[in-house]
Amino acid sequence: LFIAIEGGDGAGKSTQSALLVKWLEEQGQQVLLTREPGATELGKTLRQIVLDPATGDISHRTEALLYAADKAEHVDSVIKPALKAGAVVITDRYVDSALAYQGSGRDLDVSDVERVNRWATDDLRPNLTILLDLPPKRGLGRFEERDRIEAQSDEFHERVRHAFLELAAAEPQYYLVIDASQDREDIAKQIRARLQPILPK
Ligand code: C5P
Repeated sequence: LFIAIEGGDGAGKSTQSALLVKWLEEQGQQVLLTREPGATELGKTLRQIVLDPATGDISHRTEALLYAADKAEHVDSVIKPALKAGAVVITDRYVDSALAYQGSGRDLDVSDVERVNRWATDDLRPNLTILLDLPPKRGLGRFEERDRIEAQSDEFHERVRHAFLELAAAEPQYYLVIDASQDREDIAKQIRARLQPILPK
């Protein structure tokens, strides 16, 4: 079972991922929690490059390819082996983040970004994507310091938010969209209720 957690910066993805892992383990599941960018050795370097404000302005296609390279390594060396070993894999961000940030956010052609990312991930798709939706101002307001991407304009983050919502609306059967302004326990409960029936026996 492959689950992606998506949403804007500060929406609570890491908090919910951690709560979800705890619950899944209590259910007797073998779980792997991972994230991107930065889950592999190469990925850590790529993450450093894309997020360091000192990187400055790079071509948006370059940026998209760096994120895609991180993904290819992530899928091949972390996600696929874990799925093969029977684990429930939870990834904090996946292809939708690329479509939302590099596609809609950076104003690249979303179908190009999609093609590159389908190739990078060998077209491995999550069984379910949990989208934590929050107005960007609330999410980013939770940070004292912003990385190179978080430091983009309000309009950028608004485009990202709407891109996530549109992806979910286009294929609702593969998404659980949650209002992330709710209490974290309430959010966790909604996630558990959606996952319970699809957990491996
Ligand atoms: O979620 P996390 O904080 O690890 O993401 C790191 C940074 O990379 C964030 O600023 C996020 O907005 C950005 N990001 C991005 N494009 C992606 C994935 C993450 O711009 N495809």
